[in-house]
Amino acid sequence: MTKFDIIVIGGGHAGIEASCAAANMGCSVGLLTMDRFAIGRMSCNPAIGGTAKGHLVREIDALGGMMGKIADRTGIQFRMLNKSKGPAVWSPRCQSDRKLYSEEAYRVVNSIRNIETVEASVVEILSENRKVVGVRTENDDEILCKALVLSSGTFLNGLMHTGLRSTKGGRFGEKPATGITESLLKLGFISGRLKTGTPPRLKKNSINLDILEIQPGDQYPQPFSFSTDRNSFPVLPQLSCYVTYTNKQVHEILAKGFAQSPMFTGLIKGVGPRYCPSIEDKIVRFADKEKHQLFLEPEGLDSDLIYVNGFSSSLPAEIQYEALHKIKGLEECEMVRPGYAVEYDFFPPHQVDLTLETKLIKGLYFAGQINGTSGYEEAAAQGLVAGINAAAKITGRKELVLRRSEAYIGVLIDDLVNKSTDEPYRMFTSRAEYRLLLRQDNADRRLMKYGYDYGLQQKENFEKVVANEKLISRSIELFDNMKLHSRDINSFLENKNLSSIDSTETISKLCKRPELNLKELISLDHNSDNPVIGELLKNDTAIEQVEIQLKYEGYLKRQQEMIERLERYEEEKIPLTLNYSKLKALSAEGREKLNKVKPRSIGQASRISGVTPSDISILLVYLKN
Ligand SMILES: Cc1cc2nc3c(=O)[nH]c(=O)nc-3n(C[C@H](O)[C@H](O)[C@H](O)COP(=O)(O)OP(=O)(O)OC[C@H]3O[C@@H](n4cnc5c(N)ncnc54)[C@H](O)[C@@H]3O)c2cc1C
Repeated sequence: MTKFDIIVIGGGHAGIEASCAAANMGCSVGLLTMDRFAIGRMSCNPAIGGTAKGHLVREIDALGGMMGKIADRTGIQFRMLNKSKGPAVWSPRCQSDRKLYSEEAYRVVNSIRNIETVEASVVEILSENRKVVGVRTENDDEILCKALVLSSGTFLNGLMHTGLRSTKGGRFGEKPATGITESLLKLGFISGRLKTGTPPRLKKNSINLDILEIQPGDQYPQPFSFSTDRNSFPVLPQLSCYVTYTNKQVHEILAKGFAQSPMFTGLIKGVGPRYCPSIEDKIVRFADKEKHQLFLEPEGLDSDLIYVNGFSSSLPAEIQYEALHKIKGLEECEMVRPGYAVEYDFFPPHQVDLTLETKLIKGLYFAGQINGTSGYEEAAAQGLVAGINAAAKITGRKELVLRRSEAYIGVLIDDLVNKSTDEPYRMFTSRAEYRLLLRQDNADRRLMKYGYDYGLQQKENFEKVVANEKLISRSIELFDNMKLHSRDINSFLENKNLSSIDSTETISKLCKRPELNLKELISLDHNSDNPVIGELLKNDTAIEQVEIQLKYEGYLKRQQEMIERLERYEEEKIPLTLNYSKLKALSAEGREKLNKVKPRSIGQASRISGVTPSDISILLVYLKN
């Protein structure tokens, strides 16, 4: 009988990271997936990153994951979003070549010796004494394992809707996964139903792109991955996207289809993504808006398809077609495929621990859409954590639990476990209370040490980060003491209409002025031939870090102090075996939620919705006694 250390079910974005991490940590991995050529398939938009999602990709990369590398090799447009705002919200995004992304993901997975890809549809999870032991496939084969990561995406009992027509399927052209939900329900899990949707695809040469607003990529594009060679980046030719808008007439046509909308007629039971609503949802929820922005995004270099970002719909195909024809630039468009919605089973994520191991069945991990999230990046982040933890568990290594104060991935998993979710969860910068510290630009500084410890990051990369760290702290120390004289800077300040200085001022202090940048200030010091400065000026990564640190020093310090104040609650451990039902002084809701989540620390307990400050005081007293 076939046996692996770890089985990963699903070759989606979560499954890729889980398999690669576990295999690179020395485990034999069976990647069981329905269609080997669908590995890394992008179900919806051909893009990676974006607001907060770009942060996740940078963190995945720092930890030694694959998404950033694959995106860098297959990106056809790179942009840093939110550049006009503060660095906490700068977010890298790329438009991907859909076909090349999937091909590259397939190549990456197959280049790792310990991974065996098995084309199979799993219908049952097997366990003994509340511990996972393997799976049964559709062909009645049993495959055994010591740990299992379930990352089945939108496939569990998937049902696709366009108008009042529903067909069974996990996504367009692919069958649903049956049996897994039922086998988990028998083991005592609770499932729910969610939905998501995708827009129509249009034929590129049927669109009048000449009359539309062009959205080019950045002039100097930045890769996601630390490992990407900046000298040969970007790898592929770069393309532009286009912008257009809906209008009143479009909205009126769409409204005609409401009587046949699976969403409004109640045919769809699952809850949809609040922050990524369908076009019909938008025109109802924001009825006063006369237009909605749409991005026309190319699906690839050789593809003749355009993805209509912002026009996700499950209205009847003929309504979508009629409405599209009233949009500027799309008057003659050919709709190759209508938009559709898909409903699927998920497992409310309070059923997993912060390692993503399920509380009911040891050795069984859930990652990705199955935990109620939406998005490739959220899925990949969980897949990576689940893969690392599954491998750590069976090789006797320390588990990986990232704190909210050190990673967006920590925020994501902490939110899922403590707050659970009954609607598709996606990442936003506003979800991270320490977002000034959790920037995309410092992901390597925050997290590469973990990737290196688990053997997922190259030594060379880690050594570079350590060397940069030294350079950053030596530079800051230097600028805290290095002063510019009024005679060297005042005429420069006056030219910029800025107030002059009296006698001397440190570079650190001057750099806090939003109008001044560090390189300019350094160039004003004519007497310095300091070797640290010489080294810094040759290192773009380090100079950016120093500048951000100097400019935002006060805010960063305050966030750091807050973390340190709250950290002691994270260190107050609670035994996982604690029976909260016995603590009668707790509020009824607090008791129920604590029993459900089983937090590991007072810090975690305090973030569970429904647990009050007085419940926390009672717990603290109980633990002290
Ligand atoms: C129509 C549609 C629209 C979407 N719209 C959006 C959107 O607007 N915004 C957004 O952020 N996200 C959207 N998504 C979600 C996005 O695709 C997912 O968040 C992401 O792909 C989840 O990654 P995953 O790894 O969890 O699963 P997936 O990428 O779905 O991969 C699941 C994998 O598991 C395999 N599998 C499933 N069951 C079995 C089984 N029993 N046996 C073997 N293999 C199995 C499948 O073959 C597949 O390879 C959409 C998805 C769909 C289908």
